[in-house]
Formats: sequence, C-alpha cells, structure tokens
Amino acid sequence: MRILVTGGAGFIGSALVRHLVRDVGAEVLNVDKLTYAGNLASLKTIENAPNHRFFKADICDGVAMHAAFTEFRPDRVMHLAAESHVDRSITGAADFVQTNVMGTFQLLEVARRYWNGLQGAEKDAFRFLHVSTDEVYGSLGDEGLFHETTPYDPSSPYSASKAASDHLAIAWQRTYGLPVVVSNCSNNYGPYHFPEKLIPLIILNALEGKPLPVYGLGVNIRDWLFVEDHARALHLIASKGQVGEKYNVGGRNERRNIDVVSRVCEIMDRHNPSGGPHERLINYVTDRPGHDARYAIDATRLETELGWKALETFDTGIEKTVAWYIENDWWWKPLRDKVYSGERLGVLKKD
Ligand code: NAD
Repeated sequence: MRILVTGGAGFIGSALVRHLVRDVGAEVLNVDKLTYAGNLASLKTIENAPNHRFFKADICDGVAMHAAFTEFRPDRVMHLAAESHVDRSITGAADFVQTNVMGTFQLLEVARRYWNGLQGAEKDAFRFLHVSTDEVYGSLGDEGLFHETTPYDPSSPYSASKAASDHLAIAWQRTYGLPVVVSNCSNNYGPYHFPEKLIPLIILNALEGKPLPVYGLGVNIRDWLFVEDHARALHLIASKGQVGEKYNVGGRNERRNIDVVSRVCEIMDRHNPSGGPHERLINYVTDRPGHDARYAIDATRLETELGWKALETFDTGIEKTVAWYIENDWWWKPLRDKVYSGERLGVLKKD
C-alpha cells in the first residue's frame, strides 16, 4: 500500500505517518511545506524507516504535486495539510483561504488527473481521504450532537475555509467520480502538539510557572480525542469508508475548557508538587471573537459501520500527554524559544 500523506509533519499528520509506517507497514510519501506548524522532529522515531520518504512542497504548487503523484504513484491520498489554528485565522485569514481552499482544490485537480490515468483494479481501489474538523458544523446549544447530516454553519475563518474544502472534496466525487471520503473530527490532543493550542500551552505554562490563559468564563465545551485514536480512525476510514460518504470522529469526551485546565493543574501538582497548586496560575482573559459554545460528536457511524473504538478516555489520554511533555523538552523547548513563546493570538484590534 502506497500512501501519499499531506501535512505529515504536523500534529495529527505526524501521528498518522508514525502509525502507517510503524504499525501498518505502508509505504508513505509525506508531503509538507514545513510552515511554523510543521516539524521534522515529530518524525524522529521513524527517521531511518525505509518505508517513509519526506518531500518538502506546497500543496498549492500544482507542478510539484503532479511530480509527487506521477513519481510515487499512490494507491491512496490522505490530505491533512492545512492552516489549523482558529486564533491565527482571526488575525490573518489569507493563508487559510490559500492553503485550505486553493490548496485542496489544487490537490483534487492533480489527484483527478492521476486517477483518470489509472486503470482496472488500481483505479477502483484508489481513495482520496479529505481530513476535516467538526468546527464546520458551527456551535451546539446545551443539548444534541453533530451527526454526519448536520448542516454546515462555520463561525471562524478557519472553519469556513475547512467547510469550503469539504464541499470541494465532495463535489469532486459527485461531479468527476473521484473516490473521495471525508472525515470530520473533534478536538485532538496528545504528544507533539504545537504549543499554541489549549492543552500543550497550559501544560508548558504550568511547567514554567507562567499564567494559564482561559478564554472568557472557561465554559466553552470541546469533545476531546487522543490523537493516536484519530490516526487509527483515519486509516480505517481510508481503508473501509464508503466513497462519497462522511464519517464523524470523536471520543465522547466532552469537557468545559476550565475543567480541562483544572485537570492539567491536578496532574502537574502530582508531578511537580513544589510548583503547586498550579490552579493559582489560572488567568481569565478576553474571550475569542465568535467563540463557539459547544462541540460534541456522534461517532456512531464510525463505530458501528467500521468497528472503530477510542482506546483512550480523556483521563488516561491527558495523563499520558502531560507525562510526555515533561519527558520530552528536547521537542518543545526549541519551539518555545524560537517559533512561538505563548503570547496571546487572535485578539481584534480596535480601529
Ligand atoms: P497542524 O497545524 O499541526 O499541521 C498542519 C501541517 O500542514 C503542518 O505540518 C504544515 O507544515 C502543513 N502545511 C500547512 N500548509 C501547507 C501547504 N500549503 N502545503 C503543504 N503543507 C502545508 O494541524 P493538525 O492539528 O495536525 O491538523 C491536521 C488536519 O486535521 C487539518 O486539516 C485540520 O483541519 C484537521 N483537524 C484538526 C483537528 C485538531 O484538533 N487539531 C481536529 C479535526 C481536524
């Protein structure tokens, strides 16, 4: 099995590539532009694997993508490359539209040309998995869950750009017959998570005795999924998912942001009692503009039709995650020092 993965130096992409290379034994071509969020250090455990190749390229570059397809001849594409941070999309949406919308369009076009040239069993077996987010569905009230049929209602420039890319992917299936499958996942967390996102930011600030920023009242709810459970789900969906269909991915782990932060503080108190109680570092800050109140995924289809089950609960996954950051400062220290040191992003200037 030859799999072309885009965004494989990012958080979820690197977890997926490690899974495909080590556990599945697939041949992987990892295509990534290495933006601030891409990091080859996340692939250190597979750096000598003969079945992994890295190709630094932009998915918006049609010539480079065409070369990647014709030389590697993938049986499958798993498309994760994206700009992914909501706060950054609020202060600068251009890169999100460029990569998430135009880049996906470019990749679909190159894949379509390549797939049109395949024949017989190779053509029938080809799949293009487009990896997306539950944020495309907008915000839930106190009740209810996102289903695959929930209408799209994105709130942020990030989620709007992902919604646009989902529509393109489905349209390329309906119009051109390209064998596309789409997945929509809830918030991920785990090792190798770039420290701009809530959980790694809180862990590292707590480790360094810095304030722990909580947006608004901290009552927004997210449905947390351990990243390795997501990686397994993606492989399953790409292998067994029905062409033209969507699959929601989520771990049934709804938590208020403030409860996530408090849990991290409790774990840090155990690991580092002299720095505690870490809850004293909690600092409520101005809310994110357009902050969705609640996300919650119904993953019944993935569980019943494809037999997926999350292996981690939030409690087991968050313990592993905190322990990983404590043991792996070689990975995050260079990022904190040179790429992003934790300053607030996504605040609108009054002008
Ligand atoms: P990430 O920001 O950690 O990684 C994105 C990767 O894409 C980086 O390695 C970056 O270098 C690469 N990239 C960006 N622009 C590119 C371009 N133009 N060409 C080639 N590579 C480019 O993101 P992530 O959290 O790993 O998310 C991966 C995918 O999963 C995204 O499509 C995202 O929308 C989706 N998703 C994320 C979450 C989450 O909780 N993080 C949840 C559901 C879905």
